[in-house]
Amino acid sequence: MSEIRAIRGMNDILPDETVTWRYLESTVASVLGSYGYGEIRMPIVEQTDLFKRSIGEVTDIVEKEMYTFPDRNGESLTLRPEGTAGCVRAAIQNGLLNTPRRLWYCGPMFRYERPQKGRQRQFHQIGVESFGIATPDMDAEVILMSARLWQRLGIADNVRLELNSIGSSQSRSAYREALVGYLRARFDELDEDSQRRMDSNPLRILDSKNPQTQSLLDGAPSLADYLDESSAADFARLRELLDAAGVSYRVNPRLVRGLDYYNNTVFEWVTESLGAQGTVCAGGRYDGLVEQLGGKPVPGVGFAMGVERLTLLLEAVGVQPPAPPEADIYLVSFGPAAECAALVAGENLRELFPGLRIVQHAGGGSFKSQMKKADRSGARIALIWGEDEVAAGNVTLKHLRDDSAEGRPGQLTVAAAELAQTLAGLLADGNQ
Ligand code: ATP
Ligand code: MG
Repeated sequence: MSEIRAIRGMNDILPDETVTWRYLESTVASVLGSYGYGEIRMPIVEQTDLFKRSIGEVTDIVEKEMYTFPDRNGESLTLRPEGTAGCVRAAIQNGLLNTPRRLWYCGPMFRYERPQKGRQRQFHQIGVESFGIATPDMDAEVILMSARLWQRLGIADNVRLELNSIGSSQSRSAYREALVGYLRARFDELDEDSQRRMDSNPLRILDSKNPQTQSLLDGAPSLADYLDESSAADFARLRELLDAAGVSYRVNPRLVRGLDYYNNTVFEWVTESLGAQGTVCAGGRYDGLVEQLGGKPVPGVGFAMGVERLTLLLEAVGVQPPAPPEADIYLVSFGPAAECAALVAGENLRELFPGLRIVQHAGGGSFKSQMKKADRSGARIALIWGEDEVAAGNVTLKHLRDDSAEGRPGQLTVAAAELAQTLAGLLADGNQ
């Protein structure tokens, strides 16, 4: 029969890779925990309207990247393309927004994009959302938190921070007019994508990747000159706080982000080490979003990082968390009675040494082939039950790694009743 393959752009994450994933996830959980953030888990599927209303109808995501399908009852559902919308929906629905609330989440997101390095159709984000505080100290907090994370992961030297303020929606519409006025006069020189965006979402033209469009923008009006007073003051304060904390950044006046819900602060962490897919983390402030989704007017700020891109970066930089061996202890047995003794002893040992990886040989086979498997497992010790051992109520411990320098016998046979104690002694020795 023909082989069934995974969906294009949706990858398996194999045991070799999950070591890095776990390292990343546990480091993130620890750093976010140290700032008082609590974890939330939302459904993967939501009503399509949730994303249309929050991300915006005229965005790449909603226009062409969503996995949307009718439920059996005809309702339109969508596989979440990002986490903020669902997190806001969940926070409103569950009454979490009566006090300031710091949340984080982690999980798969889905976007129909052209798969390439650092770009999948199912990818994973770790996201952070902080609700209820509109002042720039909170923007500073989430940025500092991400900076600490790079430090802890060992990639701080490989990412840099780009920062901008896109102001209030009033200042943006004044700017939009000025920008459109400037670009309209040069319409023919724009790339096709930018021409298309002129009417729908002209601010997105600012982050066009087209070099000719970019040089055309050199003479364009600057968003910074259109900021309202309070947005400008908040941005100045944020920069002051970042300076005080020693976080360096580049103000990029063309950074606008591709989602409609942002206002004031927007930022991206970018790396040069991953080619075109260089943004590993992106976020900003979204003070109108909660209200837009039917909640009270509660401000928010947050970011999301791409887990695949971060694991690629860890790899590129050579940060490699140590992979544990498949086993610490491998249980070998020969014959039905021995198999039974080994099985029972294995359960007992897992009870007594919950941190150890105790792998039971399964499927029978000769003593020699079992020992070969024991060796390949990476275990330090094999525990052996042969017919002789079982008849005498014993078990044999064999050291599989070369530690003769420590003067240990290669193997010793002990009474089954003393196994746990002997093992505890050996393991304590081995850890010195
Ligand atoms: P890009 O410009 O690379 O398409 P984006 O602006 O669409 O990114 P966001 O919606 O801000 O991305 O998502 C935050 C982060 O999630 C990105 O910075 C990136 O690290 C990651 N990300 C987004 N889309 C993908 C994808 N298709 N595959 C892998 N990671 C992704
Ligand atoms: Mg995108």
